Amino acid sequence: MDSELKQVSSSVYAVIGPEGSTNFSIVKARDGSAALIDADIRRIDEVDEALKLTGCSKVSYLIDTHEHFDHTSANFYFAQRGITIVASAGTAGAMRELGGPDFERMMKPVPELYERFPCLCLTLPDVLFSDSTQVTLPGVTLHLTYRAEDGHSHSKGDTTIYFEEEEVLIAGDLLYTEVHPVTFFGNIPNWLTALKPLFDSHYKKLVPGHGPTVEGEQAGRAYFKRMYDYLEDFYGHLQEIEAGRESTDQVAKHMLSGAYSAFGKTRMVQRNINHFLTGRWF
Ligand SMILES: [Zn+2]
Repeated sequence: MDSELKQVSSSVYAVIGPEGSTNFSIVKARDGSAALIDADIRRIDEVDEALKLTGCSKVSYLIDTHEHFDHTSANFYFAQRGITIVASAGTAGAMRELGGPDFERMMKPVPELYERFPCLCLTLPDVLFSDSTQVTLPGVTLHLTYRAEDGHSHSKGDTTIYFEEEEVLIAGDLLYTEVHPVTFFGNIPNWLTALKPLFDSHYKKLVPGHGPTVEGEQAGRAYFKRMYDYLEDFYGHLQEIEAGRESTDQVAKHMLSGAYSAFGKTRMVQRNINHFLTGRWF
C-alpha cells in the first residue's frame, strides 16, 4: 500500500503513512519555501516526492515532533543539505541519551540505506526550545509547544505545532487516529495529563502522528477523548495483569475488541503488553 499525499488546508499537505505508519507534514510558505514536520529516512523518497508534487522550492526548516526514529531518522539527510532542524530540548535530550542504540536497532532491517547514505547516523536537532517557540516563513507562523508532561508522555520530546494563519494543529504522536498507539516508550499517566488541555485546543484541521487527519474541532475533540479513554482503559488492564487478576491474553483480547475492533496496527497491542511485562517500560 502506498502513502497518500493529502492537502489539509491551502498551504498544508500531509503524507499519510500507509496502514497507520508515520505521517509527515509540509507547510508551504508564500515564497514557495517550506517547513517540513517529521521525516523518516526509510521513506525519504515519499518525502522528496511530496515536496516536488507540492511545488516547494526548498525546505527552510525541519521540525521534529519528538525523538522516535520514525520521526527523526531523516535529520541526517536534511542536516547534510544545510537545513535547520528545530525541536524541543526534551527531544534532543532523549536522542542524546538513548538515540544511538535505538538508531542502530531500527537500521538493522534496512542496511542498504547505509550504502545509499554513507555516514548515515543519528543526527540531533540544532535549534532547541524549552517550553514554546515560533518558526516563521513568509505568511506562515508556526507555534511549537512542548507538551511532555513532567518531561515524559508518549515520548520525552512531545511537541505540537499550530499553524496560526490556517488554524491547523499537528499533534505528533500524542494523538493516533483509527490505529493502536505505541505506548512502550511512554509514561501513560503523564500522557493522559498531557492530553487534557488538547480537548479544548482550537483548530480547523487536525493532523495526528499516525492515522487519518481530522476535520473540525468537534471531531478532533472526540478523537482526543477516544485516545484518552483508550490509554486509561489499557493502563487499568496493565495494572490488573500486574496484580495477577487478569491474564495477558485476556487483556490483548479486550484491546482488540469492542470500540477498538476496527483499529489498525493490531500488532502493537501485544508489543505494548510485552514491553510492559518485560520491564522495558520507561
Ligand atoms: Zn512516537
